Amino acid sequence: YSLLRNDAGDVIVHMCFKAAPRAFDDEIFSPTIVAALIIATLSWAVVIVLMKRAVIYPIENLAQTMRRIRQSSNYQQKLNYKHNDELGKLVDEYNELLEHVANHTSKLEAYSYKDALTGIGNRRLFQERLDYLWKLASRRQLSLSAIVFDLDYFKQYNDRYGHDGGDHVLRQFSGLLKKRFTRETDVIARTGGEEFIVLLFDVSKANALKLANRLVGDLRLLAIPHEASPQSGVVSVSAGVASFTPIKDNSPDELIRKADEALYEAKAAGRDQVSISPDSRA
Ligand code: GH3
Ligand code: MG
Ligand code: MG
Repeated sequence: YSLLRNDAGDVIVHMCFKAAPRAFDDEIFSPTIVAALIIATLSWAVVIVLMKRAVIYPIENLAQTMRRIRQSSNYQQKLNYKHNDELGKLVDEYNELLEHVANHTSKLEAYSYKDALTGIGNRRLFQERLDYLWKLASRRQLSLSAIVFDLDYFKQYNDRYGHDGGDHVLRQFSGLLKKRFTRETDVIARTGGEEFIVLLFDVSKANALKLANRLVGDLRLLAIPHEASPQSGVVSVSAGVASFTPIKDNSPDELIRKADEALYEAKAAGRDQVSISPDSRA
């Protein structure tokens, strides 16, 4: 409150200043400030809790699922977050991407086990199935038979009819294999240029021999002309058969080696025939 006077000392103006009370005038933590601080802190706590529940926990869960998918390479799994918000849209897109990757992966896997020319199994498929069937036969003490086929005078066939002509015969021969060996456990594979292997689970030596002979006959019946063959005038195939019931001192490699030795004998004996390994045990 203040008075303004003139030169004579008379009061000409009364001035009154009214100021709002300041928070820190009396003490630093006035009730107003404390209340404001508590409300602000509680509001932040609520915001943080809500953020955690609505955004952070779901993101952590999604990150965990993604890690699991990556580690297991199981792209069939899906992220689970069914809300119509921005995160939901991101998850939907990610699930689409996963489906895409799953389709591509299964296609690539199928290709990697297939022989490109004939569409039957390749050496990789043969090797994996051989190991698997060997273990199965070993556990159940059942026989596993292998038939190794090799087309006769095929170099001469290519020389006479061209590589494309040779490829056509390889496809025809694969067709015969597919028709003849139809059991779910039968494995047919092209393991080399004009070499094929068939694995027969729980098939005796005698039956494997019979089936091999039938296949050799099937090709003979097809009567594909082979004018450059020093032998029969048609394309023929030789085969070697071996059959083992797995025991301690034999192995899948030995089974194939014995079938190869038998094939060599069939070639030496004049081709267009089947030979069986004398060591076969089944
Ligand atoms: P053998 O009766 O002793 O088995 O004689 P062969 O001429 O069949 O055997 P060899 O191993 O001397 O020749 C195999 C031939 O198979 C060589 C090659 O011309 C042919 N060949 C290998 N791979 C392919 C292929 O993918 N396509 C074609 N068309 N021919 C192939
Ligand atoms: Mg060969
Ligand atoms: Mg050959």
